[in-house]
Amino acid sequence: MKPDFESINVIGKNLFRNNAKMVAASEVGYRIAQEQNMIGIRVDASAGQNKLRDIATGKDFVNLCSCSYLGLNSHPAVLQGGIDALQSQGITGLAMAEYRIRLSVMEELEQELRDLFNGPVLPAISCSALTAGILPLLASGHLTDGEPMVMVFDKCAHFSMAFIKPIIADETLVLNCPHNDMMYLEEICKKYPRVAYICDGVYSVGGVADLAALLSLQERYGLFLYFDDSHSLSVEGNNGEGHIRSRLAALNDRTIIVASIAKAFGSTGGIAMLGSEKHFEFLYRAGPLGWSQSLRIAAIGTTLGSIKVHKSAELHTLQQQLTHNIALFDRQITTLQRGNGLNIKVVEVGDQGKAVHLSKALYEKGFYCSPVFFPIVGRDRAGVRLMLRGDLPAEIVQSFVDQLKDILRKMDVQH
Ligand SMILES: *Cc1c(COP(=O)(O)O)cnc(C)c1O
Repeated sequence: MKPDFESINVIGKNLFRNNAKMVAASEVGYRIAQEQNMIGIRVDASAGQNKLRDIATGKDFVNLCSCSYLGLNSHPAVLQGGIDALQSQGITGLAMAEYRIRLSVMEELEQELRDLFNGPVLPAISCSALTAGILPLLASGHLTDGEPMVMVFDKCAHFSMAFIKPIIADETLVLNCPHNDMMYLEEICKKYPRVAYICDGVYSVGGVADLAALLSLQERYGLFLYFDDSHSLSVEGNNGEGHIRSRLAALNDRTIIVASIAKAFGSTGGIAMLGSEKHFEFLYRAGPLGWSQSLRIAAIGTTLGSIKVHKSAELHTLQQQLTHNIALFDRQITTLQRGNGLNIKVVEVGDQGKAVHLSKALYEKGFYCSPVFFPIVGRDRAGVRLMLRGDLPAEIVQSFVDQLKDILRKMDVQH
């Protein structure tokens, strides 16, 4: 049989992604950072995140770019959990689909997560794997009544979700919503009977989803809500359940919250908090969750270890220290994120060259903040991004602020 060529044209439609545009735009800034040796830094981490050693220069520095917002990635209970699990099980993993045979420690982990977050929680090797597994099934209507849903992505939804758009577009209509534009979303809800909205809970470049408006749309139109709350898990909530979950009394069957447990949670992998036991059973075999590896034993162990910390008074102590550090920073440095209660800050300086200069000058003083530029932030809004942590002593934050102010003054940038 002869292949049925529709056209000899091999240019894609670029409806939902455009590498030619994006790679070209991001390469420029990347190259500047590379020339200045501000990426690709190799370190020894044995003295912790507040004292990373640069192998090339032998100099120590404070890492202000880690998403391990409470320092649980080096907590003794978390490390010990991994060691204990490996030793007691004597296997790195079963290396097969979890839905066929699952280890009893996995079951134990699921029970612990259920207790901690008060409902069914699906663990997986990463938050991105969960999103890749869940979104296409949500799109085709398999988590609701079987009819396809219009999938509306917030313009700033994390790459791990935006990445799935072309797959979903094969199942249904995909729309992009201007960032947090609830009027736009309501128009879509009025027009179509089945709509899902995909967004971050807390955004990696600052800001949060408009939860009150979203809940109102859910109540009035049955809007399905898919949140990625990777940046606030562990950081917010009595049990570290995150920004969105801590504001909901219960999860209904039209809401899903996914999050990475490789960030503040201090382990590795991802979780999906579900409002329905049926979703839990069904999603266990969804796409990459069925054919990819499952959480390795070491990761199950470090996750169990982190749950212990989450259940102890120490979680609140670390959360409070983080709140204190945020206030300390906000009192002295103006950013768009000032006063929003979040630990992610972007100090804007304008163009890419200036952003790299600031990042480099701070590094010379012993602080690493990453330069960020398009497409992470808008074209003329380059700067450095930093994340405050709960395992940072206030003195370190203050000395960082002093250095930052001094450098900004010399650069003639308002702060
Ligand atoms: C870091 C991050 C991810 C990726 O998490 P993995 O567990 O590594 O897949 C996904 N979503 C958001 C919002 C993130 O910040």
